Amino acid sequence: MSFTLAIVGRPNVGKSTLFNRLVGRKLALVDDQPGVTRDLREGEAKLGHMRFTVIDSAGLEEATDDSLQGRMRRLTERAVEMADACLFLIDARAGVLPADEVFADILRRKNAHVILAANKAEGRAGESGLLEAYALGLGEPIRLSAEHGEGMTDLAQVLAPLI
Ligand code: GDP
Ligand code: MG
Repeated sequence: MSFTLAIVGRPNVGKSTLFNRLVGRKLALVDDQPGVTRDLREGEAKLGHMRFTVIDSAGLEEATDDSLQGRMRRLTERAVEMADACLFLIDARAGVLPADEVFADILRRKNAHVILAANKAEGRAGESGLLEAYALGLGEPIRLSAEHGEGMTDLAQVLAPLI
């Protein structure tokens, strides 16, 4: 059975950018059932010598303010249930926002196996956000730049024992 990694986190942290980098062009839709699953994209990831399934939660960006929190929560819970581990992304440039704390709480409550990563950490702009990420209490954050492909070796090292 294939190892499944869910990429979770609030909108705009870079989940889909990382998903696309891991999956390349081999992208598939999970299914088109009504409800939250239509907003989860699944693909076959390639990282170093490893192959695994990766899930991206999409469709949150166009949600209205009223429904955003509930939809984010349901989608994230569903992704956690489908996954063996969750890659929890924060935006190192923005630092830890209240919305990030909401996701951290969901992951804790679900007893998810969490891998924390601070994305957009290329250059020096992400340094304070990286420090803030430690305070989430979810372990040492991996420093990533999904856009520039930085930190992928560190991610591979953390994933290797799990796969
Ligand atoms: P999602 O909403 O979490 O799926 O985030 P997206 O993948 O759509 O990315 C949101 C924005 O952040 C886009 O404009 C991306 O180009 C940008 N972005 C993603 N990864 C990085 C990164 O590593 N560094 C920088 N500077 N921007 C990034
Ligand atoms: Mg996205």
